[in-house]
This record gives sequence, C-alpha cells and structure tokens, in this order.
Amino acid sequence: MEQPLLKPRPSSLTIICPMKNEAGNLAAFFTRLVPVLESVADTYEILCINDGSSDDTLPQLLLAREHNPHIRIADLSRNFGKEAALTCGIELARGDVVIPMDADLQHPPEVIPDMVRHWREGFEVVLAKRQSREEEHWARRTTAGWFYRLQNKISEVDIPADVGDFRLMDRKVIEALKRLPERRRFMKGLFAWAGFRQTMVTFVCEPRFAGASNFSGWRLWNFALEGITSFSTVPLRIWTYIGSTIAAFALVYAIFLLLKTLIFGRDVPGYASLITSVLFLGGLQLAGLGVLGEYIGRIYGEVKQRPIYIVRELYDFPDRT
Ligand code: UDP
Ligand code: MG
Repeated sequence: MEQPLLKPRPSSLTIICPMKNEAGNLAAFFTRLVPVLESVADTYEILCINDGSSDDTLPQLLLAREHNPHIRIADLSRNFGKEAALTCGIELARGDVVIPMDADLQHPPEVIPDMVRHWREGFEVVLAKRQSREEEHWARRTTAGWFYRLQNKISEVDIPADVGDFRLMDRKVIEALKRLPERRRFMKGLFAWAGFRQTMVTFVCEPRFAGASNFSGWRLWNFALEGITSFSTVPLRIWTYIGSTIAAFALVYAIFLLLKTLIFGRDVPGYASLITSVLFLGGLQLAGLGVLGEYIGRIYGEVKQRPIYIVRELYDFPDRT
C-alpha cells in the first residue's frame, strides 16, 4: 500500500498552560512534557500564563526558565480566570501548532505525538477526548452529561462531549480565534465555532497530581450558564412560546367560565384556583425577567470593552526581552 503523504513535523510547537496555584505540579509537569516536545517538533515553547497565583508558582516558573529557555511566562496582574488566561496564550503563541493543556498532569503529555501525527496527516484540529469520566464524582459526571445534551440541542455550535481545552490547533485556527472579539469567553464554544478539519484522539484523564481543583460546583454552574448564553438565544425566545401557550389556555378557560356562568349562574368560590394561577404566573414572569437580566448582563459586559486580561510582565525568550 502506498504510504499516505505526510506533512513534515511542525517546525515550532506551542504549549499554552494556564496556571493558578500550580507550584506543586511544575517540576513533574516539565519533566514529563519536555522530552515529548523535543521528540515531536523542531523547536517548541511552553507558554505559561500565571493567572494570579497566590503560591510560589511564579518564582518556580522563573527558576525553571533559567534551566530551560523554551519556557515563556506571561504574569497576569490578577486572577482573570482560565478562559482569559487561555485567550492570553492564544494571542502570544508563536508556534505553527498550538496545544493548550492543564498544568496538573490531568492531560497526559504522552498523547501529544498522536495529535501531531494527525496534524501531519492534514487535520487542523485534533481534539483530545476523555476516555471515561468514571473517576469523577457522579454528580459532576451526570450534570456534565445534561449540560452537553442541552447545550447541543439549543445552541448554534455543537460542542463535543468530554472534550475540554486539551486539543491541537493549527496556526490557521489560532489566527481565526484571534479575530473573535468577545469579552465573555467560553473557550470550548469558541474553539468549536471556528470549525476546521477535525479529528479526535482519546486519553485517560488522570487524577490531579498535586493541589486541589479550582472549579467548585457553583463555579461550574456559572460556567454552564456562560456556555449556554454565549451560544444560544433559545432561553430568550422560549418565553414567546410559553406566554402564548398560557394565553391560549386562559382564553379557552375564559370561554368555559363564561358559558358556565351563563348556564348555571354565578358562584363565588374559586380562591384556590385564583391564588395558584396568580402565584404560578408571577413566578413565571420573574423567571422570564431573570433570563432577560442574564442576557442584558452579557451585553453590559461586552459594551464596556474592557481588555480580557492585563499582563503585568512578559518573560519572553532571553533574546527578545
Ligand atoms: N486555572 C487558571 N485560572 C483559574 C482556574 C484554573 O489558570 O482561575 C488553570 C489551572 O491552574 C489548571 C487548569 O486551569 O492548569 C484547570 O484547572 P483545574 O485543574 O483546577 O480544573 P479541573 O481540572 O478540576 O476542571
Ligand atoms: Mg485539573
């Protein structure tokens, strides 16, 4: 069989790594990552975004950079959140191939050669999908399942389930992402929105090497809301249908009451039905207003046009600082 035509290996590869309080993971992370990168690309950079860490992540990064000049560090002025840190990485990345990954070794560097092989075959995006979520808490697993189902039903882009930010992207994809101006950033959605030729590899998500997860239940809930409101207006439009359906029922009921009064005369009771419908409709209207508020909040955030992140200092390659 003829050997399929492969692109040469990437001449430069960028790893984007958002870090918040990852001091305990850094040594192990670099030890596992560096040999892999050396084997797959001519040259590489590890772009570490220090997202307002309160431990000694930054001093440790600076130290690591003394030994390995391929490490670039962007120190953000405070904690802007993982999505903002990733955006910063995408803007600073110089590689032909860019891979965002977590610093806690939940994303095994050993799958990178597989991803690069797919890129050499001509794919522009290689997603890394978690093989299973077995090791996760059942509540997080089930709610994640619901989220993906709802999201994909009502939004304009399909977000593949169990695929996080760990993925390989070609330079073309990065340039496309740099053109997206929104301030409120749901990166998984933006990545999916960009499109391009995609394929998938699977990986086993290991438990966090050291430290604790930054995403609590409440933060995840808000993250899910962010995902839905970023890519769907169904929650806004649905009120037209709910309202019309209730109005139609009300009309039928009014005719029924009118006929009943005409035929059987007046009768006073009705407190229970009255109070339930008043409360029900009141609740529904407030919920509708809440949804409106959610979107107005988003518009407010966008019109302010604030930068997505602020870099305190960029520790670039020695020859470029
Ligand atoms: N992270 C970040 N800023 C934040 C929260 C998290 O840069 O405000 C980074 C964190 O250091 C890690 C990655 O995002 O490299 C994933 O975070 P974490 O492991 O806490 O999330 P989980 O894996 O539990 O979803
Ligand atoms: Mg993690």
